[in-house]
Amino acid sequence: MHVTRWSVPVSTRAPSGDTNAYLLEAADPSSDGEPGREPSVLVDPAARTDALDRAVRERSVEHLLVTHTHPDHVGAVETYAAETDATVWARDGRTDRFRDATGCDPDRTFTPGTAIPLGDERARILDAPGHAPDHVALEAGRGGPIICGDCAVREGSVVVGAPEGDMRAYVTTLRRLWATDPPALYPGHGPEIDAPRKTLERLLSHRAEREQRVLDTVRSGSRSLEEILESAYEKDLSGVRDLARATVVAHLEKLAVEDSVEWDGQRAAAVAIDAEDD
Ligand SMILES: [Zn+2]
Repeated sequence: MHVTRWSVPVSTRAPSGDTNAYLLEAADPSSDGEPGREPSVLVDPAARTDALDRAVRERSVEHLLVTHTHPDHVGAVETYAAETDATVWARDGRTDRFRDATGCDPDRTFTPGTAIPLGDERARILDAPGHAPDHVALEAGRGGPIICGDCAVREGSVVVGAPEGDMRAYVTTLRRLWATDPPALYPGHGPEIDAPRKTLERLLSHRAEREQRVLDTVRSGSRSLEEILESAYEKDLSGVRDLARATVVAHLEKLAVEDSVEWDGQRAAAVAIDAEDD
């Protein structure tokens, strides 16, 4: 299966001002692997560009979907839905959210595991929550590369902040992608990730380190969100303070679910560590 990436300028704060749109196209055995009129799926058309216009005109776009409905991924869904005969897909149970974000009514819904046929091949929907509650990834062919949206980036990290983000789900998603061990990850922002396990391990340890700092901070007596925020980040937070705060809340929510801290949405407290039972 061919995967083509277009970096599309959008106005987002983080992680950059560009979002990747992808076209997954069945390989035509008669065309020596050259893309042509084979059925394809357009993923995350974040904005209209000349290059995407041309691609949509020259290819046979049969399906259109987004990895998640954040504003920096959906800008041209309505446009390209109107200009193609593509089946517009949304996540089952999230169609209202999809409609609100895209201005477009979905034709069909998918659930994790749904296979979208592309010629003799298929793209398969994978559940990938954490960054956003409706987030999915797309496996391009059996055992193929994965269009992973905002689950991963090659440099830096993605935003996982409350209330939209769920840190526990995010860490599970990273572990699941690690276990799947695809040949490549195609992220929503930035270049292809050609060593997925290495990147996923980096992202997992980044979260584990931050979580440990949050936990240590609470155990050493910090109670309010602002106190915890100050201790959990050593860097200057000007300009990103609200994102950092949302991230710390996501960590606290995860730690609370795991009974490592108490957290009521305002103040945190350490949980007494009982005698180990093992
Ligand atoms: Zn996003």
